[in-house]
Amino acid sequence: NQQSLSRVGLVGLAVMGQNLALNIAEKGFPISVYNRTTSKVDDTTQRAETEGNLPLKGFHNVKDFVASIKRPRAIIILVKAGSPVDQTIAALSEHLEPGDILIDGGNEWYENTERRAKAAAEKGLMYLGMGVSGGEEGARHGPSLMPGGSKEAYQHVEEIVKKVAAQVNDGPCVTYVGEGGSGNFVKMVHNGIEYGDMQLIAEAYDILKTLGGLSNEELHDTFATWNKGELESFLIEITADIFAVKDERDAGGKSYLVDKVMDKTGSKGTGKWTVQQAAELGVAAPTIAASLDSRYLSALKDERVVAAEAYSALELGEPSAVPGIDKQQLIDDVRKALYASKITSYAQGMNLIRAKSIEKKWNLNLGELARIWKGGCIIRAVFLDRIKQAYDRNADLASLLMDPEFAKEMTERQASWRRVVQLAVGAGLAVPGMTSSLAYFDTYRRGSLPANLIQAQRDYFGAHTYERVDEPGSFHTEWSKLA
Ligand code: NAP
Repeated sequence: NQQSLSRVGLVGLAVMGQNLALNIAEKGFPISVYNRTTSKVDDTTQRAETEGNLPLKGFHNVKDFVASIKRPRAIIILVKAGSPVDQTIAALSEHLEPGDILIDGGNEWYENTERRAKAAAEKGLMYLGMGVSGGEEGARHGPSLMPGGSKEAYQHVEEIVKKVAAQVNDGPCVTYVGEGGSGNFVKMVHNGIEYGDMQLIAEAYDILKTLGGLSNEELHDTFATWNKGELESFLIEITADIFAVKDERDAGGKSYLVDKVMDKTGSKGTGKWTVQQAAELGVAAPTIAASLDSRYLSALKDERVVAAEAYSALELGEPSAVPGIDKQQLIDDVRKALYASKITSYAQGMNLIRAKSIEKKWNLNLGELARIWKGGCIIRAVFLDRIKQAYDRNADLASLLMDPEFAKEMTERQASWRRVVQLAVGAGLAVPGMTSSLAYFDTYRRGSLPANLIQAQRDYFGAHTYERVDEPGSFHTEWSKLA
C-alpha cells in the first residue's frame, strides 16, 4: 500500500541522525528510521511520540526498513564517517532497487563520496554527499545543508531539505552545491573556517583575561556586547554564555566552569583535511593551519607544564596582567583585531573552495555558499551576508580582501590589530591565529616581497632558474663564479 509508505528513510540514530529524523517528521514528511543498535530506534520512536506524535516509524531490521519507504527511495545515512558508511551501504544495497537514492550526511572525505557514487551508479542508484552543520540543535530545528552529487537525486529531495534547513531572510540554508564530492568538500572547509573562528575567539579571550585582567563577569559582558555588533554570531553568543556558567560541583557556588575545563583541544579530522587540501592545491591558509597547530600543541599539556617550570627557573615567566592597562581601549582594539583576522581567515577558506572548484570543474557559487552558512551552522554570523554581497558585486573577486567594503574595514581596523599583536608578542603571549592573519594580510597587499632572494638561492644551489623583473624569459646564473 503506497499510501502508508514513508516519504524518506534515515539510518544512524546517534546525535545527528536522531535529531534530523525528528526534524524531517515534524516538517510533515513521514519517515522510517533504522539503527544498528536497536535501542536507539526505540529511543527515537519514543521521542517522536512525546515531541508531538510525529510521523516516524522505527524498524529493527534493514529489509523491513527499506520496504517501508516509497519508491524511488531516498535514504539519509548518518553513521560514523569512513568504513561504517561502506558497511551501511552494503547492508542497504541488498534491498534497494534502481532509481533509489543514498544520501550520506556525515563529515565524509569527499573522495570516499565520489568512490561510492560511482559504485552506486553501477547499480543504478543515485548518490548525494550532504554536509550537515549545526550540531544537535541545528539537526533538530534547522541545520545548514550542503548537498552535492547527483542533481536528479537532489531534485527528488529538494522539497524536504528546503523545509528542514534553517530559514534566513533570503531563503532556506540549503542549495545544490555541485557535482561529485563538492558538498562534503564545502562542509570540510566550513569546519576548517570554524577551527579558525574558534582559535581567534580563544586568543581574544586570552589577551583580555591574561593581559587585560578581565574577570569572567567582564568577559561575559564584553562578548555579550560584541554579539550586538559586527561580530554577531553563534560562536560569540555561546562564548558569552560559557563565561556565565558556574561550576555545579563547587558547593560554594563561586567558581566558573570554564576555569575547570582542561586546556587540551581534541579534533576529529576535518581541520586536518582542510590544511592538507590547502597544501595540495598550493593555497595559503595560514590562519586555519595555525588553529590546527594550536590544537596539537594544546594536547601536549604535560610537556607544557614541565617547559613552563623549566623556563621559569631560567627567569622567563609566563605572561601576566599588564599594569595600568586601559581596559576599555584594549577591549575595543581586540574586537577590531578579531574582526580583521576573521575576514582574512574567510578570505583563505573561500579561495581554497574556489581553487578546488576550478581543479574539479565544480563551478561552485561562493556567494551562494556564504548565504547557506548564514543560518543553522556553527559559523553562522551576520557578517556572512556581507560576504555574499561581496561575491554578488563581483563573482570573480580575487580575494575578499579586494572587495571595496572589506578593504575599507581592514584599513580602519589595522592600527588596532597591530597594537593587539604587538602587545601580545611583547608579553610573550602567543596569538598564532591573529598573527598569521596579519602576516597574510601584510604579505598579500605588498607589491614586492623578499622572494627574489629565495629564487636567487634556489638558482645558486639547484639551477632552478629565475625570472627577471625587467625582461621576459627564464634565466640561470653561475652565482658562485661571480661572487
Ligand atoms: P557518530 O558518533 O559519528 O556515529 C554514531 C553512529 O554511527 C551510530 O548510529 C552508530 O551505530 C553508527 N555506526 C558506527 N559504526 C557503525 C558500523 N560499523 N555499522 C553501522 N553503523 C555504525 O554520530 P554523530 O555524532 O551523530 O555523527 C554522524 C555523522 O555526522 C558523522 O559523520 C559526524 O562527523 C557528522 N556530524 C556530526 C556533528 C555533531 O555535532 N555530532 C555535526 C555535524 C556532522 P550504533 O548505535 O549501532 O553504534
